[in-house]
Amino acid sequence: MLNIKIFGIVQGVGFRPFVSRLANEFNIVGNVSNRGSYVEIYAQGSDDDLKSFLAALQSQNPPRSAILKVDVNHLPDEPFIDFQIVESTHEAGDIFVSPDIAICDACKRELFDPNDRRYLHPFINCTACGPRLTILKNMPYDRERTSMNDFPMCDACAEEYFNPNSRRYDAQPVCCNDCGPEVYLLGSNLRGLDAIAHARQILIDGGIVAIKGIGGFHLACDARNFNAVQRLRNSKTRPTKPFAVMFKDIAAVRRECLLTDAQEAFLDSPAKPIVLVGKRDWGLGTSIAENVAPQINRLGVMLPYTPLHMLIFDLPDELDDFPDALIMTSGNPSGVPITIDDDDALTNLECDAVLSHNRQILLRADDSVMDFVDNKPSMIRRSRGYAPLPIFYRGKGSVLAIGGELKNTFCLAKNDLFYASPYIGDVSDLRTVEVLRNSIRRMSDLLEILPEVIACDLHPRYQTTAFAMELATAYDLPLIKVQHHYAHVLSCMAENNQHEVIGVTFDGTGYGTDGTIWGGEFFICNANHFERVASITPFRQAGGDKSSREGWRIAVALMKDISLARELNLASDAELSGQKFLLDNNLNCVPSTSVGRLFDAVAAVLDVCKVSSYEGEAAMRLQACAERSDKNFHATFTTTDKIFDDILTRRLNGEDTCDLARLFHVSLAEMTAQVAEDLSHKTKIKTVALSGGVFQNSLLSSLTAGNLRRRGLKVLRHSMIPPNDGGICIGQAVHAMNFND
Ligand code: ZN
Ligand code: ZN
Ligand code: FE
Repeated sequence: MLNIKIFGIVQGVGFRPFVSRLANEFNIVGNVSNRGSYVEIYAQGSDDDLKSFLAALQSQNPPRSAILKVDVNHLPDEPFIDFQIVESTHEAGDIFVSPDIAICDACKRELFDPNDRRYLHPFINCTACGPRLTILKNMPYDRERTSMNDFPMCDACAEEYFNPNSRRYDAQPVCCNDCGPEVYLLGSNLRGLDAIAHARQILIDGGIVAIKGIGGFHLACDARNFNAVQRLRNSKTRPTKPFAVMFKDIAAVRRECLLTDAQEAFLDSPAKPIVLVGKRDWGLGTSIAENVAPQINRLGVMLPYTPLHMLIFDLPDELDDFPDALIMTSGNPSGVPITIDDDDALTNLECDAVLSHNRQILLRADDSVMDFVDNKPSMIRRSRGYAPLPIFYRGKGSVLAIGGELKNTFCLAKNDLFYASPYIGDVSDLRTVEVLRNSIRRMSDLLEILPEVIACDLHPRYQTTAFAMELATAYDLPLIKVQHHYAHVLSCMAENNQHEVIGVTFDGTGYGTDGTIWGGEFFICNANHFERVASITPFRQAGGDKSSREGWRIAVALMKDISLARELNLASDAELSGQKFLLDNNLNCVPSTSVGRLFDAVAAVLDVCKVSSYEGEAAMRLQACAERSDKNFHATFTTTDKIFDDILTRRLNGEDTCDLARLFHVSLAEMTAQVAEDLSHKTKIKTVALSGGVFQNSLLSSLTAGNLRRRGLKVLRHSMIPPNDGGICIGQAVHAMNFND
């Protein structure tokens, strides 16, 4: 008899039924069970059959599973008579929890098949699809440890659940119209399909509907309806930040957007993220309202990923002209995490109706957002569908890394496994701290990681730092503070499994070890320590918080002559004089090397964006502008102060602003490569890691990587971990693990 232990993503992906089917195929008797951290098989049969069984286990595993390790031991035979799936037992060890999986094609066919007993059932799922992480209380993954425990299976569902030949064999969330959860419209007595039909009517009429999804509520409206979109903007106090659009199908996406094969593959993958794609048309001319993603050339798109989404688009009722594109934006008041329960939705979401259901969401997970750089995936927000898949890097012990202040995610790590949480949000709001606290508790229960060390950012005034200190004191654990940009580089190193690099972080804001603002840094580093070997030319950031939203303030600081700011109409005379007063008297000024702010300043000078209404707006618009120019520039200046002066002079001479936006990108990319090349000569390190929020800019990233490769250097970039602050929890954990080396 063989005792086989399989480690990896083997829970909640149909692994045990798969094993059972193979056992029948190869005449194997014995059993299979979930052990929390692994699947254990006792297999007995002829030597040939066992050999084929073992090979098939590893080559034909279910599509959403991932085998990381297989242990095989020989034991004496036992009197098994058949092959069985046995009840889960629990053992401690490395835990792999499956992310949530979008509805599969087979379930979609049944959903719209009038002869199927789950016809139009909003919660249809199977062994290969459905919610996972967001409905899970504890491991191992069994129905009583999920929020489906509230819905006992009917006889027909139980029959499928226990039948090895069924697609729903051992599928924990399995249910049907008779036994499953129910959709309803809050504050009315409409339930089920009537509730969905009513929500459809509201959407057709230009209304806003809050819809409960997998990881939280969305706010939805017709993406073709300018007034509806504007109402949504007003209610979310979100004047210009782009909204994501859920299209009914790929054909509808193609009508509006330019889609590469790689983008389409991700868009339609089991994780179903939001993918940033090129608009067919810059402004008007398509059916999508121009205020959905104003002033930029790209659109965040996604496809329906739950049966409820599909019913909202395609319920066979009498209504026609239902939009094939809906805004789907996270349902939350500004600055607060996504809403997951009914009371909160009723009180805090401004909308015309709330379409909810009674399957509890236990852990928040916003939609993931994926961009493409040089035709390769580049994660912007890693959440639903991806969290909590671990990444592997060397380490020892166990760590809780709290992450950054904005776009927060946290990381629980144990030895060489680093699990980043779903997206939490901006922790500057105290309500977010509570969500962070609860999410940490739930994830550490789920992954069974009790941290021995806590890591956080170095910033003395971050809420996350205060929270980390509180935890460290309460549990009497050591606290390790990790410099922000070093954490960025470490996350990039970890993702690429590299141990020593020249690290380049171009970023918005981060607290430097000298108390100034960093964000244009060159490091020599490994997981244990870093050295800041170069940075961009420092300037003064004057005006406190305003200086990170109002690029013209940075531009004034970079100019030698204030009259040029007047000539360019950067701000009113009073504002310009006020800013000059601060600078002249060194009031409210902090030295800064932030490349994010440099982008803001250039965007202001080029009249692309003087004041940002959301983080990164100026940079996104500057990139969009640069991409309209096809002029071939050769960079001449290699310090950022000279690059800025050059752009300013050319602007005053009346050169085209899009050409100059392009020149700025080209110059910055050239400067970066030259500095890295010098450092490589000095240190003999041949690998350069690019990280920080500014490298979300695909044009800058692409130009810089090209320049580095032409110089014979190896380039590491982010792919599945965001280059922005959503990725730094991993870097913090990596350093905390390797602190004593
Ligand atoms: Zn399915
Ligand atoms: Zn049922
Ligand atoms: Fe950052």
